[in-house]
Amino acid sequence: MTTKKIALVTGANKGIGLEIARQLAQAGVKVLLGARDSARGQQAVAALAADGLDVEAAALDLNDEKTIAATVETIASRYGRLDILVNNAGIVDAEDGPPSVGSITAARRLMETNFIGTLAVTQAMLPLLRQSQRGRIVNLATTLGSLSVNGDPTSPYYEARLIGYNASKAALNMLTVQLAAELKGTQIVINSVAPGYVKTDLTGGNGFMTAAEGARLPVEYALLGDGAVSGRFVEPAGNAAW
Ligand code: NAP
Repeated sequence: MTTKKIALVTGANKGIGLEIARQLAQAGVKVLLGARDSARGQQAVAALAADGLDVEAAALDLNDEKTIAATVETIASRYGRLDILVNNAGIVDAEDGPPSVGSITAARRLMETNFIGTLAVTQAMLPLLRQSQRGRIVNLATTLGSLSVNGDPTSPYYEARLIGYNASKAALNMLTVQLAAELKGTQIVINSVAPGYVKTDLTGGNGFMTAAEGARLPVEYALLGDGAVSGRFVEPAGNAAW
């Protein structure tokens, strides 16, 4: 059994998740790099391992309960605990749109992955997080999931009417608030962290930040020490409006 912290990062084969995995490993954490596609996961692990980082692949699809259960089993048998869960995996959908016309099947897909899948992973990992001295859960949130921002005509994001994506991320924030309340008095904290506008495949390469820069705040919250805050929604500029 290692004395290193053990982290699971979902959807870590590319984008912000890959950089979160890299930065956690650089901080001395043993990282399980979650990927729904094994080949893509192995490729990412090989790239990080080539830099001398302590990373291993975890075949994990948020929409496949069997892969979630298998990952729990692997972590339980090898490490007996999980110290950090970064719920990073997420999707956008080309058929998403304003509530009047956005595709219903797209909305369902978005809720299924971004909210239900993340909830399923979190529930499954909780017994392992309870075995940690300091459990840390980070949900990759977004300003687009803020009800206040969506209702604020002066916000630059006011016109970003993606009912499926925005609602799925608002639901994710609800997970943060409710689970933080449920876990009050335990050693586990959970926070919603919006990374900023980051150049990845998800944004079609648009954004103000590199993936490495976008990983910075999620990593900071994954590594919070004693007396850590819980149930917060933060972005690079500070506290975010729910
Ligand atoms: P990305 O480059 O598209 O990466 C998304 C990752 O999630 C990929 O590894 C993808 O795997 C994985 N994934 C998707 N569905 C999955 C599933 N069902 N099971 C397991 N893995 C799955 O996106 P990103 O920009 O890095 O986004 C990471 C997170 O940050 C997302 O939750 C996103 O909503 C959030 N975020 C991003 C921005 C931004 O500006 N980029 C802003 C706010 C929040 P595949 O490679 O197999 O598709």
